[in-house]
Amino acid sequence: MTETLDHPAQPPLPQFTVALAAPDLGPWRAGNTGVAGFTTRAGSEPGPHVALVALVHGNEIAGAIVLSKLLAAGVRPVRGRLTFGFANLAAFDRFDPAHPTASRFVEEDMNRLWDAPVLDGPRRSLELDRARDIRPLIDTVDVLLDLHSMLWASEPLLLSGGTAKGRDLALAIGQPGLVVADEGHVSGRRLIDYGAFADPHAPQAAVLAEAGQHWSEPTVRMTLASIAGLLRHLGTVAAHPALPESPPCAHPRFAEVTTVVTASTANFSFVRPFRGGDVIAERNTLIAVDGEEEVRTPHDDCLLVMPSLRPSRGHTAVRLARLLDR
Ligand SMILES: [Zn+2]
Repeated sequence: MTETLDHPAQPPLPQFTVALAAPDLGPWRAGNTGVAGFTTRAGSEPGPHVALVALVHGNEIAGAIVLSKLLAAGVRPVRGRLTFGFANLAAFDRFDPAHPTASRFVEEDMNRLWDAPVLDGPRRSLELDRARDIRPLIDTVDVLLDLHSMLWASEPLLLSGGTAKGRDLALAIGQPGLVVADEGHVSGRRLIDYGAFADPHAPQAAVLAEAGQHWSEPTVRMTLASIAGLLRHLGTVAAHPALPESPPCAHPRFAEVTTVVTASTANFSFVRPFRGGDVIAERNTLIAVDGEEEVRTPHDDCLLVMPSLRPSRGHTAVRLARLLDR
């Protein structure tokens, strides 16, 4: 199944192929934590509380496919606790392969709400209410891996937030082999930016896996590899047939976001259809036009992180990052 989005002012978009089927989450919907969709399994030895979270974006079904398989396969921790969470079930329930971009959220992006003033504030939405339900459980998590995928063609990557502990965790996971440190979005804080995760003095850490294109089989494999890398690194799960043995990338690349380009007009367009992971060699290269404004690379060897080829006004169009030699 494919979907095209038409826009009169810009050339037609590529067709997005949906090669994955939404998993049946029936057995995991109630959960066992008091929070619907969240299941925790405990090991016999003490250890960290690790959370694997899928469906913060309701149409990013690769993570849900992997978590439901791991739950069904009986994966459980030997130490600490392991939580499997399906976040935006209401959006996921609206997933339609004929219109796969429509179910990212119902009322607002659940990954822009993770800020105490917003969560404690008076505003309500379906996603905010759900975030408030999930929040007490998240407050008990030591290490969190948030499972995402991407609409546009891009090299898979791990987003490590703005802290050194996030960077170290992502590099230790080692799959995907590209780690990007960034401060998030102007439009609101992500789950990995929430509370103790973003506090450089707290031990809790969270990273976000962008495992590939939304509805493709390689994204399922990369999601699984990323989870296996995390659980191996933390010693949470002993070897299990459902978890691949593939070693982490020996030399993951690390990049720091230097510039977040936010579309300030409805007429933002890249000069060509860049792919995430593209590197622009020379500084001051024109990459996009935002209304009348030119967008140019701020430095040499500029890594383009997840360009959104059709950003709406006020949304992140691309993050520009500097590759660092480690
Ligand atoms: Zn996402």
